[in-house]
Amino acid sequence: MSKRTAALLGLLTSILLAVVTYLLRRRQYGPAPVYVVDGKPFGFRGVMLPGVGIILSRQHLLDPDLMAHEQAHWMQAQRDGPFTFARRYVWWGLRYGYWDNPYEVEARRIAYEKTGYLLEKS
Ligand SMILES: [Zn+2]
Repeated sequence: MSKRTAALLGLLTSILLAVVTYLLRRRQYGPAPVYVVDGKPFGFRGVMLPGVGIILSRQHLLDPDLMAHEQAHWMQAQRDGPFTFARRYVWWGLRYGYWDNPYEVEARRIAYEKTGYLLEKS
């Protein structure tokens, strides 16, 4: 790779990171934008993407705990910061697995307190 190509790649990477950082910070506070899609986003009933919003499966919109669960993740990302949330979520997911990830445990507890609906491990 030539020096010029490397410099160009570095510049493009910096611009991309700046844009992503801007988008994440802009959306860090306030209510989560909600998107409804057909099928399961990333194989789940719903997902929360820091700085983007909540994506829900149309087929699971009426699940009593779903919105409260995803809103809990949005609150976690606001409380801990979107980058820390993303880093910890991945790290804890690798260490404890999906079900025992402390962010998942907390989100299930918050959803249970709000809705009285406790998601059982399947
Ligand atoms: Zn979750």
